[in-house]
Amino acid sequence: MRFGVHMPQKGGFEKNVKRAAEIGCRTIQIFPGNPTGWKMGKLDQSAIEKRADLLDRADIAPLVVHSAYLINLASSNQEFLVKSKQLLDETMERAGFYRAPYVILHTGNHGGRGVEKGIAQIIGSIGEGLSKWPDSVMLLLENTAGSGTALGANFEELSEILKSFPKGKLGTCFDTAHGWAAGYDIGSAAAAGKVLDEFDRVVGLENLHVVHVNDTKVKCGSRVDRHAHIGEGSISLEGFGVILNYGWPNNFPFILETPENGTDWDRTNLLTLKGLVDK
Ligand SMILES: [Zn+2]
Ligand SMILES: [Zn+2]
Repeated sequence: MRFGVHMPQKGGFEKNVKRAAEIGCRTIQIFPGNPTGWKMGKLDQSAIEKRADLLDRADIAPLVVHSAYLINLASSNQEFLVKSKQLLDETMERAGFYRAPYVILHTGNHGGRGVEKGIAQIIGSIGEGLSKWPDSVMLLLENTAGSGTALGANFEELSEILKSFPKGKLGTCFDTAHGWAAGYDIGSAAAAGKVLDEFDRVVGLENLHVVHVNDTKVKCGSRVDRHAHIGEGSISLEGFGVILNYGWPNNFPFILETPENGTDWDRTNLLTLKGLVDK
């Protein structure tokens, strides 16, 4: 297993990678541009080479790219949908340049049109994108907390999208805080094991490539997306322990998206997680 954090953009890539290595990160997640904007920053080939070298030397891999929050492949607004597809195309291309194997995407919001229509449009949009995206980059759908009309809160919806494509073309990311908010009880050892078994049965663990390991203070099933530091929320350390020790492939990435990423909290959260791994 490899533990890492979502890296803030403030301070620049180089400074943040050095800091990540120093606190013991072996993997990191970044936004490729402004997470709440439609525009991506300029692409500079020499900067890209420098970034890749830096990660190689620090033995930080995989580099995971999280796409902008605005992207909604289930949008009923045509203009919004076109912009979403464009930005996702750019993000996939950028991840290829960064040599990042994964781009994470929030599944989407159907906006009141219903689950079926929303999912059909997501499948259509991904189908259009796949032929254009670099083969070295896999799109991972992240489970959501299920707030409002968010799709992908339950494993069945993720599975339905995945099964529309050849095996291995598309993957998933499981966020513990979102799972809890969506009603998956991972708060005790017995319950957490059952949730992972269910994920395996419905989606298939071979289709899971990243875990976002976040605590949350909200109630299980509340559908509220709010992250907390590990051990400060409602998901017990016992539950996290079962998830971490479920039997993952070597180098499987666990990424913290806890409040105040980029502060001393990262070091604390990483130490808490590492302390839960069976020796
Ligand atoms: Zn997440
Ligand atoms: Zn979240």
